[in-house]
Amino acid sequence: MQYMKKIGGPIDPECDCYACQNYSRAYIRHLIKANEILGVRLLSIHNINFLTKLMEKVRIEIENDSLLEFKKDFYKKYGYTND
Ligand SMILES: [Zn+2]
Repeated sequence: MQYMKKIGGPIDPECDCYACQNYSRAYIRHLIKANEILGVRLLSIHNINFLTKLMEKVRIEIENDSLLEFKKDFYKKYGYTND
């Protein structure tokens, strides 16, 4: 079963959260489809980490007066095209 945790990549290869460092998104999907509570716990760990890091970056960009540029790059990175 250990090998299943590593098949495919993590949810986000750039993320340093516990879920992304230890489990593949395929394995997490399997857990969710099987109604295993670990699946949603791992997703929550990732989502909270993502939002915390995003807010840290936003604070830095506000201090540097470059929030609009950050916003454009963020939207581009995540495929959001409407400005
Ligand atoms: Zn993560």
